[in-house]
Formats: sequence, structure tokens, C-alpha cells
Amino acid sequence: MTASSAEPKLTPAEIAELRPDTRLVHGGILRSPFAETSEALYLTQGYVYDTAEQAEARFKGEDPGFIYTRYSNPTTAMFEARLALLEGAEVARATASGMAAVTASLLCQLSTGDHVVAARALFGSCRYVIEELLPRFGVTSTLVDGTDLAAWQAAVTPATKVFFLESPTNPTLELVDIAAVAKIAHEAGVRLVVDNVFATPMLQSPIALGADIVVYSATKHIDGQGRCLAGVILCSEKFLNDHLQTFLRQTGPSVSPFNAWVMLKGLETLPLRIERSQASAAALADRLAGEGKIGKVIYPYRADHPQHALAKRQMRGGGTLVTFEVAGGKAGAFRFLNQLKVVRISNNLGDAKSLVTHPATTTHQRFTAEARAEMGISDGMVRLSVGLEHVDDLGDDILRALKAV
Ligand SMILES: *Cc1c(COP(=O)(O)O)cnc(C)c1O
Repeated sequence: MTASSAEPKLTPAEIAELRPDTRLVHGGILRSPFAETSEALYLTQGYVYDTAEQAEARFKGEDPGFIYTRYSNPTTAMFEARLALLEGAEVARATASGMAAVTASLLCQLSTGDHVVAARALFGSCRYVIEELLPRFGVTSTLVDGTDLAAWQAAVTPATKVFFLESPTNPTLELVDIAAVAKIAHEAGVRLVVDNVFATPMLQSPIALGADIVVYSATKHIDGQGRCLAGVILCSEKFLNDHLQTFLRQTGPSVSPFNAWVMLKGLETLPLRIERSQASAAALADRLAGEGKIGKVIYPYRADHPQHALAKRQMRGGGTLVTFEVAGGKAGAFRFLNQLKVVRISNNLGDAKSLVTHPATTTHQRFTAEARAEMGISDGMVRLSVGLEHVDDLGDDILRALKAV
């Protein structure tokens, strides 16, 4: 059997010069000697060494090869390198889920006595980690209104080590000024961690805005077809070496190479999918805004979004989610959800299939009515994740379902 050369024609430096869409197709490839076109799935736990000396050198870090898939794997490494190229981060590390990424990004750098400041409007599990898990180990936290810059500043104590935020937030699509919060963080010697799931790497680059660490649930738009779970942490080489690498290796939240392969291939089509879903989301937001049975429509790129100017400044598009209020509170929202046929009810988002959620009774059920009101989540509020269907079929389905309200 003969194989053609597996040597890449593009150097990493040349790939870094290419446009993002091209980097997402060609970045990070590690070809096997068979010179396959599509990236190989290396479903292996371990690696064999030619000699005992080679094994010793690898464990000493003097030979760059792979050791064990809990540490790293060629398929996973391709996914990490490709996403790092898109994000403009020095390094990326993939994890088994978005929550594994969030938890590792925090635990790896925190110790008893440290303090975290986070925006109050967080994905439910992120809020659990910060509000309930960390305090069990003596890491205190303060939750602030993320849109209030003075509140971030006021919450800083000499023990503060980390700021954590999401923008846009779930489900109210409020924005946090990432550059301004990064400035407050850095003046206080604090690191800023941004969960960039709702914006996606296509539409917002937190590292360019000053964030130190970016985390993703790749489960959402990066897979984009509702198949696998994975997460990613993007950071500097120094943070990786000082904090993250050892934590990940020893505690083992590693991603399955199969899931990493699905995510790697997902990156190839990410720009096309985001462009399509976003165009539909923007069109649907405009179409819904004029409807009688709809109250407020929230979409960051609409001129009536309270932070429209900030959206234009820090995002490259309004995103793939639209949140709106249906008349008649919970009963109205339930009647609307139950009448939808193309759009399906699910707590998930970032799928090829359009999905609708009633946050007050699902993702934000565990909060008291007062806490929900404080977060701006009303009983009639509905979150729509726009998929890849034809926009007119989505609009028709939504308008037909609204007639039942
Ligand atoms: C889904 C999600 C997570 C968690 O990701 P999993 O892959 O489900 O663990 C974290 N943050 C945000 C904003 C999310 O939407």
C-alpha cells in the first residue's frame, strides 16, 4: 500500500493569515500517513512507544508526542487548534461538556479564601457552581447586575481573583460591556472569564475585547446539529501552564475523541450555519415586533434593544436567539408553545432545528418569582433558538400558533 504525502502545503503561519472561513476548513489538520481528506477519528486510549527511552522522554516533556487520551488525542488536538485559530487565542483545551469547561476554568485557578464576582444573569448550572459549589470550598462569590459597571467595581475585594460573565445573557439577551468589565478586572489584578455561548465565536471575540479566558459549550452552535456534548476553554499559554493543564490532566474532564471529531467537522460549516440562522432570527424578530399578541421583542441588533449601540460595538451580528413576550402570561405562552409544529419545545439551543423554551417553568424554574422578576424573566416570556429551516416556514408556524393565544 502506498500513500501520498501527508505533509501539509500550508504552514501554520500561512493558515493564520487566511480568512476565518478558510481557517475553519483547513486549520489544525494532523494528517495520518494515509493522507486522508477528511480529518481522521483517532479512537484510542493510548499510544505505543518505539523504545523505553522514548517513553521516558515523553513523560519528561522532551518528546512532543501523545501519552494518553485523558491528556490529549490527535483528533481532539485538531479541534482545539482550529477553534483557537478562529478565536485568536494562544491555546484551547476541549472538555466533555460546557459545564466541565466552566467548572475547570474556575477551579483550576481558585483556592480557599479567594473571591469571585459574577453577573447575576447566568446559565443555571454556571450559577450553581458560583453560588453553591465554590462556597463549599471556601471560595466566596458576589453576584452583580452585569450591566452595571459600578457594581462590578464596588464588588471587588482584596481577595477577588476572577470575574465571570455571559453576554448576551440567557434568556433576556442583555449585554455586558466586555471591554469595560475587562478594564475594571485588570486594574484590580483580576482575571475575566467569559462564557461566549450565546454570541458564538463567529459574532463576538471576547479575547480581543480584553477577556483572559473564554469558555464554550460546543454542544450548542459548534456541533449545531444536536448530537454530542463538549466544551472548550481558550486562554494564554501561560494560564495553561500555570493553572489549567495539570488540573485537566489529573481530574480528567476529557472529551471523547468521537465527540471532538463531530465538533471539528462542525467548525467547517459554522460560518454558514450562523449566517443563515442569524438572518432568520433578525427577520423573525422584525416580523414578530408588529404582532398584536406579542409584547416586548428582544433582539440585540434591533434598534429598540436598550443596548443597541453596545451590541453594534462588541458583536458582529445580533445572534441566533430571539426572546419575546406572549400575551396572557404563562397560560398564553403555553397555548402558543403547544400549537407550534415546525418549532419544537426544548430547553436546548443552537441546533439546526428551531427550538422554543419557556424559561420561567424550565431553565429558571428553581428561582423564586422575585428572583425571576429581578432577572427580567416574565411568565409570558419565550426564548426562540432559530435553526436552519426556511424562514417563511418558521414565521408561518409562529403566526399560526399565535392565533391560539
Ligand atoms: C449550555 C450552556 C452551558 C453548559 O453546556 P453543556 O455543554 O450543556 O454542559 C454553559 N453556558 C451556557 C451559556 C450554555 O448555554
